[in-house]
Amino acid sequence: MSTYIILLGPPGAGKGTQAEILAQTTKLSHISSGDLFRENIQNQTELGRLAKSYMDKGELVSDDLTIAMIRDRLSRADCKDGAILDGFPRTPIQADELEQMLAEFGGQVDAVPYVTAAESILIERTGGRWSCRAQGHIYHKKFSPPKQEGICDIDGSELFQRDDDKEETVAKRLRVYFDRTMPLVEYYRKRGKLIEINGVQPVEQVTKELLTALKK
Ligand code: ADP
Ligand code: AMP
Repeated sequence: MSTYIILLGPPGAGKGTQAEILAQTTKLSHISSGDLFRENIQNQTELGRLAKSYMDKGELVSDDLTIAMIRDRLSRADCKDGAILDGFPRTPIQADELEQMLAEFGGQVDAVPYVTAAESILIERTGGRWSCRAQGHIYHKKFSPPKQEGICDIDGSELFQRDDDKEETVAKRLRVYFDRTMPLVEYYRKRGKLIEINGVQPVEQVTKELLTALKK
């Protein structure tokens, strides 16, 4: 049976950082919907063009486009044992579709770690985030700087600041998160899948809390 873990939480909570570590520990694929959209933008695909118009404004990409992209990604061979989902689902419609999709693939959502942090911390984290061009590795100018400024420690590619990490776009993304994604907290709590994780600790501590909770 495959294993699917969903990392839920506001922008900047540390989902991507923890997903990267968790993927290494569990050997499951790390599937980030935001990274997939950014890849499409970089490769100048039609999906990228459509997604960019939403992302630049801090809005969610439409459910139809997002669900089709994730279905395609989860059907690939490297997800046959399951995946760590980061940034998907973000609406109840996406969550319902995911349940159906996983049933088809012979799996189900196993656990939903919900990583939280206060708004001031989310703003500080997104404001200092640097992402790697090649594979989306994540850094922070103050909390986890690369060894050499502007260069990814892992693959040597260029580090860039995301356009949507500008303060005004982050404010919009937080509003969108509260309106459209917060309902998923109750959605998964009702199903007995939600695990609350304190995101306001050093990265290693968050990982420890996460792994301990997932073992249970
Ligand atoms: P998300 O995927 O939830 O948007 P990220 O994992 O990209 O969040 O983290 C946002 C920023 O905060 C990044 O710059 C990352 O390096 C930093 N960060 C992540 N976790 C922590 C932590 N526990 N303490 C301090 N900074 C963190
Ligand atoms: P992220 O990298 O998770 O912070 O996502 C960056 C942006 O990509 C979001 O602000 C949305 O515009 C878009 N996006 C990522 N995941 C989704 C999703 N599941 N549903 C809709 N839009 C998404």
